[in-house]
Amino acid sequence: MRIVITGANRGIGLELARRYLERGDHVDAGVRNPETARELVALGKDAGGRLRVFACDVADDTSVRAFAAAIGDVVVDVLINNAGVMGKWLSLADLDFADVTRTFDTNAVGSLRVASALLPHLRRSSVRKVVNMSSRMGSIAENTDGGAYAYRMSKAALNMATKSMSIDLRGEDFTVISLHPDWVKTDMGGPNAPTSVEASVAGIVALVDRLSRADSGGFFHFRGDTIPW
Ligand code: NDP
Repeated sequence: MRIVITGANRGIGLELARRYLERGDHVDAGVRNPETARELVALGKDAGGRLRVFACDVADDTSVRAFAAAIGDVVVDVLINNAGVMGKWLSLADLDFADVTRTFDTNAVGSLRVASALLPHLRRSSVRKVVNMSSRMGSIAENTDGGAYAYRMSKAALNMATKSMSIDLRGEDFTVISLHPDWVKTDMGGPNAPTSVEASVAGIVALVDRLSRADSGGFFHFRGDTIPW
C-alpha cells in the first residue's frame, strides 16, 4: 500500500511512517521543512526507496498543490491527515484571535486542502481510505470542561469535514473517518500523557487496516470504540 502522511517529521506522524515502512508499505511524507526532518529521512535508509519526503505546509494552498503535484501519478491507498497544532489555551476574555484562526487553518482547513488535492491519487486506488486525525477535544458531546477554544473548534470543524466527505464520496466507495489517537506522549501531548506513541500508532495502524466502508463517517478512538460527535 502507499500511505500519505502529513506532519510526519515528529510525534505520531513520524511513528506512523516508521511502522508502515517496517512492514513494507510505501510512505509519501509531507513535512513543513524537509531539511530539518532528519529522523524521518533516516528511516529511508533501510526502506529501499519506499519513503519519499516532500515539503507540505498544510496551511498553505500553494504548498499543498505543489505536494500533490510532486507525489505524481501514483496510486495513493490511504491518506492520514495527521499534521496539527494545539493553539493557545487562553480564557474567553484573553483570546488571541490570530492564533484561533491559525489553528483552524491548520487543523480543519489544512486537512480539507490535502484531501481535496489528493482526490485524484486516492481515486486510482480501490482502498480509498482517508483518516482525519481529530481529538476527543473536538467532541461537542464530551465537552464538559469548556475552554481550549482554538483547538476544540478546529477539531469539531474537522469532524464536520469528515462527515461531509464521507457522504460526498459514499458513491465512490471511500472510507473517511475522524480518529482520536488517545492522549499520547509527544511534543503536543506532553510527558504526562498515559499512552506511548508506539502504542497509539500500533492501534491506529491496526484500526486503519480493518476499516471498512460501513465505518465511513464515523469518529473512532484508536482502539476502535466510537466517540460521540
Ligand atoms: P506533535 O506536536 O508532536 O507534531 C505535530 C506535527 O504536525 C509536526 O510534525 C508538525 O510539524 C506538524 N505540523 C504542524 N503544523 C503543520 C503545517 N502547517 N503543515 C504541515 N505540518 C504541520 O503532535 P502529535 O504527533 O501529538 O499530534 C499529531 C496529530 O494528533 C495532531 O493532529 C493532533 O491534534 C492529534 N492529537 C494528538 C494528541 C496527543 O495527545 N498527542 C491527542 C489528540 C489528537 P513541525 O515540526 O514543522 O511543527
